[in-house]
Order: sequence, then structure tokens, then C-alpha cells
Amino acid sequence: MLTSDSLGQLQERVLEWYAAHQRDLPWRKTQDPYAILVSEVMLQQTQVERVIPKYLEFLQRFPTLEALAEATPAEVIRAWSPLGYNQRAVRVQAIARQVTEDSHGRLPHEAASLARLKGLGPYTAAAVACFAFGVQGPVVDTNVRRVLGRILLGQTRPAPKAVAQAAREALPQGRASEWNQALMDIGATLCAINDPRCLLCPARPWCRWAAGEGETDHQGKAQTLAETRAPYWVQPPFKGSSRYYRGRIVDYLRSASAGGVPQAEVGAVIKEGFTQEDIPWLEALLSGLERDGLVRREGERVRLP
Ligand code: SF4
Repeated sequence: MLTSDSLGQLQERVLEWYAAHQRDLPWRKTQDPYAILVSEVMLQQTQVERVIPKYLEFLQRFPTLEALAEATPAEVIRAWSPLGYNQRAVRVQAIARQVTEDSHGRLPHEAASLARLKGLGPYTAAAVACFAFGVQGPVVDTNVRRVLGRILLGQTRPAPKAVAQAAREALPQGRASEWNQALMDIGATLCAINDPRCLLCPARPWCRWAAGEGETDHQGKAQTLAETRAPYWVQPPFKGSSRYYRGRIVDYLRSASAGGVPQAEVGAVIKEGFTQEDIPWLEALLSGLERDGLVRREGERVRLP
């Protein structure tokens, strides 16, 4: 770890850089905890550029936590398109309903209390606590892990415990929100896994990785392609996988009327050459989707819930 003087200089330089170069993102212009929650859930598995228009549209459609809680799941699943990972739509609505019923529509402020909401993981809890309520805690996503890992430990993929401790120790007092977002922006715009743009980076004078310390062979270059593409980029489902067909089913039901469609029709639409032999396979897919709250079956018909 750096000396306290060096750490202070690093913090100052990074925060100055952030003030001048931060990305223009709509969720950074609001203090509304609900809007920040929606952005964080959308960002979990989707690129920033794809999230921006959907985030704005979704908030127009469901402007408050209460409005989201009162909607039907089918409305929310429809409004989520085309982001994919539709379970997130069900999850964020379930959170809205829990908070509306149990806490008069007020999200808890502390990360630990947020993390107790069903469907809200520790990362999202920390992000909402920090960005919406000003809680002074680290928010460590993939980008922050890499950036802090490189600067302080000389490692692209530090062990979770090591980076958690480094993230706590590096937090500038009272500036957690800007600091965390600055690290995210450095990760997204400068500190790519392959060929980071160190010459432009405000952290360069203190960065162990850039100085050639730590990883001797810069193992970061051998990381997965998925991580190199975008801060929250996740590989799309490959054609023929269960996730691919689950997505197709939900997409088809989105376009169907509220009363749904016959199950046999779903099979024929989503899979070319669908036969009787595929019925158990389709049954299993539909059961999984029903368990996840994404479809409802009534007799032979299937619809959004
Ligand atoms: S100096 Fe280079 S390796 Fe270090 S944080 Fe900046 S971009 Fe990443």
C-alpha cells in the first residue's frame, strides 16, 4: 500500500481527473434512490450505451418505486425489452414491492440493509448505498477491481479479499461516490485489460502495474475477450443454449396478447422443426421460466405473468 502522502496525492489527482473527464451518464444527475437502483440493476449485465435509452424510457413508464410496484409483471417484462436477462425485470419489481409493503416505499440507506432485500446482491447494495445515500464505502465492480488491483497491488485480477481491503484503505474521506465512479471511468475509458492507455491515466505515477511491478508478464493481457469489450459486457447467449431459447420464449410472449398463446405454438415459433419429441424439452424450459416468475401457464396456454 502507498504511504499516506502518496495516497493523498493519488486521490487528489484521480478526483481532479474525474471532475474534468467523467462520463455523461443520466443516473449521475439524480439523487433519486429508485432511479439509481434501476440503473444499477440494468448495468449489471448490459453495456452502458445500451442501458442509457432504456433507463430513460423505463423511468418514464414507471417513474416511482410505487408505480413499478403497482404494475403487472407482464408490463414490467415488456418494458424491459430489449435488454435481455429478463429475470432482472422480475427482480427489480419484486424489490419495489417489498419496499413498498414493508418500508412505505423507502429504500434502506445502509448497504447491509439493502443487501437483505430479496434479489439485491452485495454489489448493487453497495452501489445504491454509496451513489444514492452517500454512504462512505467502496463499490467494487469488475473495472474497479482491475484498476485498484493494478495501481495498488500490481495485479489485474487481485484476490477478492486483497482488493476489498485495498478499496477500503484507498477511499478518500467524504468523497466515496466520486472516487468510486472515477475508478469506474478509468476502467471503462483508459485501463482496458489489453493495452491500457497509461500515458493518459491520472494514476500512472502511483501505478505498480504500469511501473512493471507485481505481475511480471502482465497476465492481464491473457484475460477473456468478454472483459475487454465493455465495463458490464456479458456474452450473448449462444444459439441453441437454454438461455437463448428462454429469451426467445419471453420475446414471443411479449408480442402476444395478454391472454397468451397455446404451448404448442410457442414450440413451433421458437424452434425450427419442432416435433413431439421436443415437448419434454419445452416443458422443462417453461417450468424454469415459471419458477423464475417470467411466464404463467394456464392449462395449455402460456402467457406473461
Ligand atoms: S496507469 Fe495504466 S495500468 Fe495503471 S490504472 Fe492507469 S491505465 Fe491502468
